[in-house]
Amino acid sequence: METPANAELADRKDVHYDCPNGHVLTFPFSTEADVPLSWECSCGALALLRDGDRSEIKDQKVQRSHWDMLLERRSIPELEELLDERLELLRAGRIG
Ligand SMILES: [Zn+2]
Repeated sequence: METPANAELADRKDVHYDCPNGHVLTFPFSTEADVPLSWECSCGALALLRDGDRSEIKDQKVQRSHWDMLLERRSIPELEELLDERLELLRAGRIG
């Protein structure tokens, strides 16, 4: 049984099964449904439940750091330039 709180967040979730022959099966399951661990692919092979889809998305959100947001606004060359400027200032300060 899912908690009521979970059911309110999302009624359905996409569940993926990876077939050993490279097929990916996707089904929308109710969050309250018992998701089978495997599914017979149309090619006859047994596709296995891909676990952690939700946690992956969650992790990406969590791991979205200041650095990621900085990268969206500035390219690497720009960042390197900024770093160089900082280093120049540091060196200048020490020498001065
Ligand atoms: Zn298959």
